[in-house]
Amino acid sequence: MIRPADWGEDLINIEAKISGSIKTEIIKHRSRNREFYKLYGYDWMVKPDNYQNGLEAMYQLWAIRMLADSPRNNSSRSRFCNIAVRLLPSAVASAESILNNGFRYIVISTAFLGLIKSYVWLQYSLFKIGKRHPSVENIIVTDILGGVEIESALRSRDPEVLGVVEKFVNIVIDYVRFRAPSLPPAKLYDLINDSNSGFHKFGLIITAVEAFLIYHELAHLLEHDFSQEGRSTKEELDADFVALSMLINHSATNKTGMLSYFLGPISGIQLFRLVEMVRRTIEHLEPSGKIAIAPEENAAYKRNALKNEEELSTRLHGLKVSMARYGMLQLAGPLFDDIATETHLPIVACQGYMLGQLGDSSPFDHYTTLLKQMGK
Ligand SMILES: [Zn+2]
Repeated sequence: MIRPADWGEDLINIEAKISGSIKTEIIKHRSRNREFYKLYGYDWMVKPDNYQNGLEAMYQLWAIRMLADSPRNNSSRSRFCNIAVRLLPSAVASAESILNNGFRYIVISTAFLGLIKSYVWLQYSLFKIGKRHPSVENIIVTDILGGVEIESALRSRDPEVLGVVEKFVNIVIDYVRFRAPSLPPAKLYDLINDSNSGFHKFGLIITAVEAFLIYHELAHLLEHDFSQEGRSTKEELDADFVALSMLINHSATNKTGMLSYFLGPISGIQLFRLVEMVRRTIEHLEPSGKIAIAPEENAAYKRNALKNEEELSTRLHGLKVSMARYGMLQLAGPLFDDIATETHLPIVACQGYMLGQLGDSSPFDHYTTLLKQMGK
């Protein structure tokens, strides 16, 4: 079995826990959908040897459950066979769908999982620091994902904030440069299991983003052809829309509650935006290796550098529109906005830190300015 080097003990433990129960679930699912498994050739799924590890088996079950649940008149049925989810041990953070020898693969890299995990670690660490520094002048008043506490942490001038953010920014820089990162030592999955830690809702983010990634790629496989130019913005918006409907189904099957509809897509997109922000900032490095902002005057560079950010912002907005199309906006509109605002705080944390690296002023001064901008 290939065991990615950057998996901490905690991930290996959870993997062991998953393997046992997921095997039973796959067998159960097949026995209820024998016809489907036979028709589309998925009987191989019950053999443990066909997976590198429990996580891969879990992702495969997610994808196939979605296909088996879809209506019989689904127009994509001809594309239902030969889909496999693979976990790729790699330092490149990527999630993509590829075509190979008639098989269609959803490939998620371990670096990507590490990135999600680190992102959640950042949120949770800031949340804990913020709890020690209650602030009276908060701009963020919702507290679904620790927004109040994270804002307090950023205003607190607690040196621990800089330690945590620096560690995370360096992890992102490692990913951006395709280096294996040093993951934070936090025992994330132990925290998930400890109901007293207050971590539970942060732990949900990890699975929710994973589910969003899998369903987004599955949507590409079902709806789109492969082309040399890569995916268009329209295809990305389509895939998000389909992924959202799959997430509604997923939440019902896994009894994860409504929060998962929102957590996965919003946190996922915000994480991509954060990575893009770091990438833009470090693309032009000073010879010393110190972080340097890309030259402002270079218009072509700027346009190109911001292209991904623009697409991601469009996708974030598109998700909200999709919810309206699913008739959920009355219920979900305000919740969507709150989560989008709260998940913007880790971006502010990294942006303020990186700006602080460039100039003479402290990151905390930048935090105050950036938070005020958010309040407008
Ligand atoms: Zn896509």
